[in-house]
Parts: sequence; C-alpha cells; structure tokens
Amino acid sequence: MMTLMKSRLKTFLGGIHPAEDGKALTLDKQKTTLPLPKTVYLVMSQHIGAPAKPIVKKGDVVKKGQLVGDAQGFISAHVHASVSGKVIDVAPWPHPVTGMKCPAVIIENSGEEVWAEDVNVASDTDLLSSEEIRRRIHTAGIVGLGGATFPTHVKLTPPKDKSIDTVVMNGAECEPYLTCDYRLMLDKPHEIIEGLKLMMRCIGCKKAHIGIEENKRDVYAIFRDIVSKDPDIKVDLMEVKYPQGAEHQLIKALLNREFKPTQLPLEVGAIVANVGTAFAVYEAVKFHRPLIERIVTVTGNGVENPQNFLVRLGTPVRQLLEEARLTADVNKIIFGGPMMGIAQGSIDTAVTIKGTGGILVLRDAQRWESHACIRCGRCVDSCPYGLNPSELSIVCEAKEFDQALDNNVMECKECGCCSYVCPAKRPIVHLIKFAKSEIAKRKMKG
Ligand code: SF4
Ligand code: SF4
Repeated sequence: MMTLMKSRLKTFLGGIHPAEDGKALTLDKQKTTLPLPKTVYLVMSQHIGAPAKPIVKKGDVVKKGQLVGDAQGFISAHVHASVSGKVIDVAPWPHPVTGMKCPAVIIENSGEEVWAEDVNVASDTDLLSSEEIRRRIHTAGIVGLGGATFPTHVKLTPPKDKSIDTVVMNGAECEPYLTCDYRLMLDKPHEIIEGLKLMMRCIGCKKAHIGIEENKRDVYAIFRDIVSKDPDIKVDLMEVKYPQGAEHQLIKALLNREFKPTQLPLEVGAIVANVGTAFAVYEAVKFHRPLIERIVTVTGNGVENPQNFLVRLGTPVRQLLEEARLTADVNKIIFGGPMMGIAQGSIDTAVTIKGTGGILVLRDAQRWESHACIRCGRCVDSCPYGLNPSELSIVCEAKEFDQALDNNVMECKECGCCSYVCPAKRPIVHLIKFAKSEIAKRKMKG
C-alpha cells in the first residue's frame, strides 16, 4: 500500500533522500519579525547579472523603499533602502556569498520607518497591461527568491521565438533544514496565487502547475482549495526527494518535459518561479512595494532558538544569530542549506541579501577524511543530470580540464548529491567547482 502511494507522487530519476532533513527544528515556528537593525549594508550585487550602481552619496537622507542602487542593463536589478535614515557611507563591502568586495550603500536607521513617495500604495490590478506588470516587477527589484536570484522581469520577457504555455511554481523546498517557503505558503497562500496569476498574465500564459513536496500536505490542501474553481492551475504532490525543486527536476516531475542541463525551461515552453518570488511579485504589482525584506530560516544545532525571521535586507547576520541564541561551540556556519549552501569563513561582515533563504549553524559538523574512489557507482546513480561524478572528480583533481569538458563538467549544477552519497567522502563538488572556475579563467585569458 505504501509503495502504491509513493508511486503516485510526481518525481524524477536520481537524487537523494536525506536521512535527517532537519526541518522539524523550525517547521512549527511562526514567522517572527526581527527587530529593526541599527545599520543596513546594501550590497549592489544581490542578483545574477550586472551589479546595480549606487545613486546616493554619503550624508543623503533616504526613505524606506527609495531606490539607492540603479540596475545596470537588462540583466540586473534595482536595490532599495530597506530602512529610512542617513547614508553613512557608499563603500566596498564583502559580499556574503563570494567574499569579494562589492559596492554597498550603508544606511544608519533613523527608526522613523517613513516610506518613499509612490511606494507602498495599493492599486487595482485588474486592467493592468502585461507591460505595466513587468515594469512594476522591474521597478521593485524582484529577483528569484529560491536562491537563483535571476531578475524576474528578465524571466518574464521570453524571446519572441519561444512560446511559453505553463508557469511552474516551485513549492518543493527540497533543501534540508529550510522552512522559509513553507511558512510563507502557510501565511500568504492567496497572495502567492495572485502573484502567480500576475506572472501568467504578464507573459500571456494560460496554465500553471504548482509542485509541493509530500511532507507539506497541509499547504497542499490549502492551495488545492484556493484554486479549486480554476481548472488552469494544477497543484500536485511530489515525492520528498532532493533536488525536487530544481528546474529540470520540477519540470520533469510535473510536466514530463525534459531539456538539456545547459538549456533553460523556456526551451520546453515553461518558466519556473519560486513561491517567495510569486509573493514578492504580488507585493510589487498590487502595492508598489520594492523588495526590501524576506523570510530567513536560522536553524541548526548551533542555535538554541531556531526561527523563521522576517528580515530587512542588509541586516548583519550576527543580529539574526544572536536573536536565535548562537551557542559558543559552533564550528560551521552555512549560508543556505547543507546541500547547496556556502560555508562562511567569517560572520563579522556577513549581511542578508535577496537570495538569503537560510543560515545553518552547526556545532558538530564532521570533518571527513577523503579516500580514493572505490568505483562503487553510487554517485552516478544519484546524479540527476546523468553525469559521471566519479570520473569528473578524478579528472578535475588531476587538473585535466579538457577531459573534464569532454565529460560535460559545465553541465554540473553543483547539487551535491554525488558528494552526499560517496562512501569514500570524496569532495566531488569542490573539485568540480574548482575545475569550472579554472576553465572560466582560461576562457577569459583567451
Ligand atoms: S553535483 Fe554535479 S555531478 Fe554531482 S550529482 Fe549534482 S549535478 Fe551531478
Ligand atoms: S560514490 Fe565516491 S567512491 Fe563511489 S564511484 Fe562515486 S566517487 Fe567513487
């Protein structure tokens, strides 16, 4: 009976089932609003594409929601003041993901919470043209909040020769430990559906398909109920499996369409949006609200009070950790979840950005000794993109980059499934990342 039920759930080939997903730590914690930060550090690169350009200077007084970073070019996104106050510097600041210094607007919070003119104003959306919907999304600086941070107005501008028939909404939240999307889906389901419909209108697409993992049956029931009279929006339960929320796996599971790892969903007539993005779109189009805050899961056994915080962008990470009661003996802090997150060398300068969905704090992260590959093949079975991670790790380690290219190293999405299952504890993803960055450097040199 159990097997029968499982087989009805949508899914894909490969992937992993983490034994301990850590979600129970914050699953039942209602979202808490973090106290306002004294200072925010708004880095100008919070998205894929060209960094925004600071358009304020030291000494300027800014209001909440005011544009402080202007998008440069089409693939870029605006950055807005997340508090009202005084600009105390415009200077390079370490980027929390890359560690590289990046221009930032630093604002001392006055605590007045005064909104800028023309933002936070409700409007009727029924008669908006698709151009106006896209313009408001662009103006609000919306990017993909599932972690990809691709500017949403770009995603909603498909090339003229591509016909999109379905918007796929990602409610999987397959990354272990993270529950920020789950809490948002519980709190704001109607708004998320409205945001989804606005995106459908924006690209003239009639159908939508929402995928939710089986461990969130409560939100599945809520979403099914909301769209029960709308036959063009389907909601499906999917198997709990990582990386179920990745674009290729989501589209395979829900639409049974496949495309190459190097291609985009629009090759098979779809675009994918995360539930957080849909909510941000609703806020932007309905209320002219720029993206200045988001929910962040702060979790792991290194904090005494794991939480889902509503956080202003640019807030120092240390404030989130203190609020969650950081323990003294932490040995690893990861931006994001354990599978795709980025381990932090230092948290002294780390700040929240649009793509910060979670901060995982561990006090007993094991350090494994790695061994030679025993050719067990587990990594091959787990790779959702059909690569041979064993072979890749060997040629990358040997710095045989041409061979790595022959083995399609650029198709690796760095999902981490191979490293997770490897009994020899080979650092497969690290070796692949290293090779990819060396190949990129080689290409730049010509
Ligand atoms: S990290 Fe790359 S090689 Fe490893 S399983 Fe994921 S896609 Fe495949
Ligand atoms: S899982 Fe590890 S040991 Fe097994 S084949 Fe892959 S790299 Fe080798």
